Amino acid sequence: MSTTTALPATDPAIGAELALERAELGHRGGSPVLGALDLRVAPGEVLTVVGPSGCGKSTLLRTLAGLLPLLGGEVTQDGGPITGPGADRALLFQHDALLPWRTVRANIELPLAIRRTPRGERRRAASDWLGRVELSAHAAELPHRLSGGQRQRVQLARALAGRPRAVLMDEPFGALDAHTRAGMQDLLVDVLRDTGATVVFVTHDVDEALHLGDRVALLATGQVLAVPHPRQRNAAEVPATAALRRRILASL
Ligand code: ADP
Ligand code: MG
Repeated sequence: MSTTTALPATDPAIGAELALERAELGHRGGSPVLGALDLRVAPGEVLTVVGPSGCGKSTLLRTLAGLLPLLGGEVTQDGGPITGPGADRALLFQHDALLPWRTVRANIELPLAIRRTPRGERRRAASDWLGRVELSAHAAELPHRLSGGQRQRVQLARALAGRPRAVLMDEPFGALDAHTRAGMQDLLVDVLRDTGATVVFVTHDVDEALHLGDRVALLATGQVLAVPHPRQRNAAEVPATAALRRRILASL
C-alpha cells in the first residue's frame, strides 16, 4: 500500500467481486491447507464461512486479504489478481489491531489519513461513524479505556470509514460475551445495509453464520448454501432454516 500518492476514494455503492479458482491455499514450506478451491463472492454479497477448527478459514481470509500468496491457482478481485493488501479491502480480526497511542477518533480516521483524505472530510466521516457505532462520547479516549465490545465497534467503524469495497472478518466477535456479541451482529447487519461492500465473514458459530450470511460456505466440504430471506436470528426455530442449520452442523 503506497502512502506517497493520494488514492482515489473507493466507491461505497459497489462491492468488489472476489474469486478463487482451482486455488491451493497454504503456508510456504507446508503442505496445502486447501486444494482445488473454487469460490466466487458476488459484489455486495455477505458470505459467511464456517468449518471445523484448523480447516483453513483464517488461511482463506489471509489469502483474500493478499497477506498470503497462493501455492497454486488464482485469487482475483474483479478479475484482476490479488497480489498484496489493498486499501479497498478492509480487515477485521478477533483481536483488535487498534493503535494504542491513538484516540478512538484518530484510529477511525487512520484509513482516510493513509489515503490522504482532506482533514475536514476525514473528521466528518469519523464523526459519522462514531455516531453509528454509538461511541461519540468516547471519541477522545485511548483504546485501553474501552471494553472489548467497544473496541470491536471502533474496529468496525475504522474498517468501514475507509469505504472499502470488501470487508474481510475473521471471527471478529469470537471473544465477546453472548449479549455483546448479539448486539454486534445486529449493528453489523444494520451498518452493512448501507455500504454495498462485499463481505466475507468467518465464524465457527452456525447461528451467527445463518444470521449474517446471504450464503454460507462450508469450507471443509466446499459446499455453498443459500440462506432464505428474510434472515432470522433464531434459525433453529424457523422451518426454512432449521434443516439448513442441521446440515451445516453435520458438516462441522
Ligand atoms: P482455522 O482458521 O480454520 O482454524 P487456519 O487457517 O488457521 O484454520 O489453519 C489451517 C492450517 O494451517 C492448520 O493446520 C494450521 O496449523 C496451519 N497454519 C496456520 N497458520 C500457519 C502458519 N503461519 N504457518 C504454517 N502453517 C500454518
Ligand atoms: Mg482461524
